[in-house]
Amino acid sequence: MTAPIQELRPGRTDGHEPAVRLDAVSKVYGRELLALDQVTLSVDQGEFVCLLGASGCGKSTLLNLVAGLDRPTAGEIDTRDARIAMMFQEPALFPWLTVSGNIELALRVTSSGRNTTKKERRARAAELLEIVHLGGFGGKRPHELSGGMRQRVALARALAQEADVLLMDEPFGALDAMTRDLLHDELERIWRERELSVLFVTHNVREAVRLGDRVVLLSSRPGKVIEEFPVALPRPRRTDSAEVAELASTITDRLRQEVLRHARPAAQGPGSGE
Ligand code: ADP
Ligand code: MG
Repeated sequence: MTAPIQELRPGRTDGHEPAVRLDAVSKVYGRELLALDQVTLSVDQGEFVCLLGASGCGKSTLLNLVAGLDRPTAGEIDTRDARIAMMFQEPALFPWLTVSGNIELALRVTSSGRNTTKKERRARAAELLEIVHLGGFGGKRPHELSGGMRQRVALARALAQEADVLLMDEPFGALDAMTRDLLHDELERIWRERELSVLFVTHNVREAVRLGDRVVLLSSRPGKVIEEFPVALPRPRRTDSAEVAELASTITDRLRQEVLRHARPAAQGPGSGE
């Protein structure tokens, strides 16, 4: 291997509008379930932000709000005129369409794809499949692919939407560690090449440190930003490296404190030395 690429992504670019900005966003479900409490957060253009928190803390709620699938109860969300694509834990491909057909369908609904011919869309789908290392698989049906391959198709479909902002909701949560590592590498490469802004949700601390320029820690009930950790480690990183493990352990400690605080709301002040 050659030396790792040492470029650190530019941090907050003063004078630049962020790609996504949430300002004191709250979300109440029903009458009183406060899922998000005044969350203020931004993702700069080209930045990779990981949102980390325990299950049920409001991560999916936050992504849905950014995607415009739901409305905040209070606060403001500004995505400017960014095109947004979303990826979920389940790839949600149409089983009756081929892999290529799934991507062609996404191409058809983009503004630039609307006036293209079927042949052009098929060629473009083949290019996108090359990007996610699935060249030659266009004629397969989703059920013929492994879980990791299906997530790659979902990624190609997200790219077909010509998005500037990619929202990812635990997209690799169901994959084995080796497949996940591969997809981390591929996602990182595509993010750089396309200068995407990514908001990536996970409850996996190492995954967050592996991928993020910044890790934003969300507390539970209500979901609130409790701390942000810039990740200044050179890329590409390895999930099992000592540097990633060290920062992950710091973040895990912080997360644990938060979980304990939540479990024992009466306990305050200095802890028992744990
Ligand atoms: P996460 O993605 O971090 O696991 P969610 O955003 O899915 O968390 O959920 C946050 C909280 O909001 C949970 O308590 C969940 O039960 C609740 N919740 C999520 N979606 C809805 C909904 N559509 N209606 C009512 N409650 C919801
Ligand atoms: Mg979720």
